[in-house]
Amino acid sequence: MKTLFQKIIDREIPAKIAHEDEKCIAIHDINPQAPVHVLVIPKNPIARIAMASVDDQAVLGHLLLTAGALAKKLGLEQSGFRVVINNGRDGGETVPHLHVHVLGGRPLAWPPG
Ligand code: 5GP
Repeated sequence: MKTLFQKIIDREIPAKIAHEDEKCIAIHDINPQAPVHVLVIPKNPIARIAMASVDDQAVLGHLLLTAGALAKKLGLEQSGFRVVINNGRDGGETVPHLHVHVLGGRPLAWPPG
């Protein structure tokens, strides 16, 4: 069974694409929690960060570098932004395909709710 994000990667479900390369895709979240809310998603699905292994090291680094570059591209460098990975029930994960949230464009509360 393909994950929702795999279907987006395969163009079976539409999404607003912010970035794409050979290792990942970045899309604007359908239900944004801030003026800028994008998801950076590996093309090779890893269910969640707790399932990642040493073999995933390069792609994990790539996701974070892409998140930082996208935040800059989307104008968040000066104001700041947050990078979030939700894992499991208490972490608020709803799609079991690893994704890095990049949120910004408003002050974000800490600690998160
Ligand atoms: P999670 O809760 O798993 O950390 O994040 C999943 C995110 O995917 C949520 O922020 C949710 O709004 C977003 N999302 C769910 N379905 C879709 C969709 O079909 N398209 C897009 N662009 N985002 C989605």
